[in-house]
Amino acid sequence: MIINNYLDEVKKRENALSIIKDIVKNKGRDNLYDLTGLSGGFIASDEDLNLLETYVGPAIFEDELQDLGIEHMGGEKIFSVNRTSSGILATILSLVDENSNVVHYLPELPSHPSIPKSCDLVRANYLEFDNFDEFIIPKNTSLVVVTGATMDHKVIDEEKFKKVIDMAHQKDIPVLVDDASGARLRTVIFNQQKACDLGADIVITSTDKLMSGPRGGLIAGKKELIDKIKVKANQFGLEAQPPSILAIVNALKEFNDENLFKSYNRKYEFISLLNKNFTEFELTPTGVMITPEKLAKQLNINSDLSYKDIAFLFSMILLKEEGIITIPAVSMPGASPTIRFDLSTGDAFNLTLERLSKKILNSFNILKKISKDSKKSSEIIFN
Ligand SMILES: *Cc1c(COP(=O)(O)O)cnc(C)c1O
Repeated sequence: MIINNYLDEVKKRENALSIIKDIVKNKGRDNLYDLTGLSGGFIASDEDLNLLETYVGPAIFEDELQDLGIEHMGGEKIFSVNRTSSGILATILSLVDENSNVVHYLPELPSHPSIPKSCDLVRANYLEFDNFDEFIIPKNTSLVVVTGATMDHKVIDEEKFKKVIDMAHQKDIPVLVDDASGARLRTVIFNQQKACDLGADIVITSTDKLMSGPRGGLIAGKKELIDKIKVKANQFGLEAQPPSILAIVNALKEFNDENLFKSYNRKYEFISLLNKNFTEFELTPTGVMITPEKLAKQLNINSDLSYKDIAFLFSMILLKEEGIITIPAVSMPGASPTIRFDLSTGDAFNLTLERLSKKILNSFNILKKISKDSKKSSEIIFN
């Protein structure tokens, strides 16, 4: 085992960032292909930036944020936070009592770690279900959580979504939706309704996922609850700061469905190219992925590495050798180790699918050699 804990994941991320820096410095940004589906964009005009230096800007951006945010997500009020995780934490700090239950329904495990970890902080009992037939809301439940689309882009069934909301509301329990990428995936690709329109009380999305905003979170929902969450968020410094709010506003203005649609169609061609050499890739709504288990199966060799190690190693090789950024190399601790190639971001349109599949094959062949040697593998992951 190479990656044993969160600290190892932090070290792996630091190594990945230094590789990225080297590529940008020595070969140029054009030789990097960010296929994470997270763009960390910061759209701002000079005029916007000048406003930031005064106290006027935040007042203007905040006002625009309300209108654009409600248009994007529905609900009565919008509140922007530093990350989706910060929004989840602020909501759980505000609405969940010690020793009460929090139940979470998601289309497929695992859930994002911020949900169970926030429940731990307030000493609540956390239960999670990805089998709808087993889903229950026990007595003494203070919050029901629903994930609209998982970290691996598995999307909820809308009928089940509605049923969970109904079950919670029959017991007067508020519903929090983790719609980090779902707010766009579900609505644009799967034609589902906005979570607020389905009756959810609080919905959080990531302004960095499948849209060109900065890492940040947007909370929409019932005014009364948002106000409560805002107080908690301010106490702990979880709210978005004016520069982020500016970039979130501009990303919302810029957002259109087109790239999402294009990637939705392009993925079929992509997977048939990959299937000439591989058997274990699966489709996602906007690209393809390979889980750690399937990657190990594809590799089919004896190795001391865990499935997760193999995924991290593949992600690092893709980055180092081919300049391809996937989430496992750069992610925060606890994020999904699945290798996902998202075709919806700008960089994906700068590559032909033939070239991209060649890059993946090259990296896979290197993985095949290196994964037999755990010392070498460890060097590649941590440097
Ligand atoms: C990405 C993601 C999060 C966390 O977003 P951050 O901005 O990294 O805090 C939470 N839940 C799901 C389902 C996600 O995909």
